[in-house]
Amino acid sequence: MKNARRIECPACGHRLMDKKEGAFGAVQVKCMKSKHVWEIELSKLSFKLIHGKLYRDDKESVS
Ligand SMILES: [Zn+2]
Repeated sequence: MKNARRIECPACGHRLMDKKEGAFGAVQVKCMKSKHVWEIELSKLSFKLIHGKLYRDDKESVS
């Protein structure tokens, strides 16, 4: 597993999955801790928030 990279939830740091070297494509994963749903582009390790809210700089009030 030396080529596997641990991917953590950007919001809370909970482990989402392990990425193997060379993996690519977009996956959607749900954080079991903070309930955020992320779409992760594996080749770039870019995160896009699909569901859930971030706490920092959140100008919208959530009712
Ligand atoms: Zn999380």
